[in-house]
Amino acid sequence: MPDFLDTEHAAVLRTAERLASELTSLTDQAVPADLGAAVRQASKAAGVFGMTQPKAFGGSEAGSLALAIVRDTLGSRNVGHLPGIFGPSPGVLANVDEPLRSQFLLPYLAGEMRSGFGFTEPADAPRHTWAVRDGDELVINGQKSYVTGGADADFINTLVEVDPIGPAMVLIETSRPGVTLERRFGTLDGSHHAVFTFADVRVPAAHVIGEAGRGLRRALSQISATRMAIAADCIGQCRFAIDLVEQSLVERAARRVGGPAKIGTDLERVALGDMRIAAYAARSALYRTARLLDAGENAVNEVMAAKSLATETLSRICDDAVQLVGGTALVEGHPLADILRRVRALRLAEGPTEVLATNVARGRLDLGLGRV
Ligand SMILES: Cc1cc2nc3c(=O)[nH]c(=O)nc-3n(C[C@H](O)[C@H](O)[C@H](O)COP(=O)(O)OP(=O)(O)OC[C@H]3O[C@@H](n4cnc5c(N)ncnc54)[C@H](O)[C@@H]3O)c2cc1C
Repeated sequence: MPDFLDTEHAAVLRTAERLASELTSLTDQAVPADLGAAVRQASKAAGVFGMTQPKAFGGSEAGSLALAIVRDTLGSRNVGHLPGIFGPSPGVLANVDEPLRSQFLLPYLAGEMRSGFGFTEPADAPRHTWAVRDGDELVINGQKSYVTGGADADFINTLVEVDPIGPAMVLIETSRPGVTLERRFGTLDGSHHAVFTFADVRVPAAHVIGEAGRGLRRALSQISATRMAIAADCIGQCRFAIDLVEQSLVERAARRVGGPAKIGTDLERVALGDMRIAAYAARSALYRTARLLDAGENAVNEVMAAKSLATETLSRICDDAVQLVGGTALVEGHPLADILRRVRALRLAEGPTEVLATNVARGRLDLGLGRV
């Protein structure tokens, strides 16, 4: 739990609380066009912007617990999803060698290049995206169907089956001949994605990120970090939604003729109690997992559990919160309506809940891994 923080993490919590207050007042004031720049400036001043960036590039490379504290705190004020809070993090490009380091990683961390992540493929694809080696080049064919931010990306870190070695993450510039942006689309949560096809796309063999054959492992370590980020933000928003419900119950009691003898009906109390119990369990799981990661433990299964618990719990809490607060909560622009849209996407993105459950079972039964 977020209890018993040491001095270092207690300071992180105070910083996050200050930034959360600042971002809350910014969202009240700033016109949308200026919001990103204002958020970035506030986050840089607080020392939060660089927390996801390596020390070698001027960041502070914060640990999992520190990041969970910040995201949980910002989520609890419903500002954690704002763009520009964290600087670009290396993701699968972490620790790459030349020429990828100078040509892509450095400009990417400096905000001069944008990237996408190509993992998901169409269900009817005849074959996973694959490559054959031809001299110093790879020749790539296939399709990726859900590349977030793909339409604006300079390159896509793409999972490719390299014949005959196995899966590899390969950096493919979107400007290469044979790369076609087939379609762009938006989703319920407000994010944008793109479908790409690759037809005999030639990239230097040096564009393999890390070691060929270990691409899936590299992709999954990136996914684990993203799953923790999603979990922490959702946990914060559970508290935000619960606060709104409590405030609504208090206000309703105050409006009742004769004053607030008792806050909430028996049914409302049961619903609120259920929300608090679910949030307590999910929040405990998040902090336990963060501590395991910081201790260097293998916590892949626990991360899946934390992401699944956080997104499912927020989804249920938010749905019940709308019911308790009433119709105003469904009006466009109401924070609960916004959260409901965002969390619906998060139950699928970075691993649908059922896939995570299957993987947790596989971790236990086939690999002897995973805690309860
Ligand atoms: C907002 C958003 C952003 C995304 N961004 C990206 C991105 O940047 N890059 C990228 O590559 N992808 C991205 N995705 C795609 C996302 O990873 C996939 O939607 C997700 O992995 C599910 O794959 P699918 O859509 O092909 O559904 P399917 O794989 O067809 O699964 C559909 C359903 O079938 C069930 N199911 C499938 N497999 C299993 C299993 N093994 N065990 C149990 N049940 C199972 C589950 O209920 C699952 O929800 C994004 C998705 C969303 C919603």
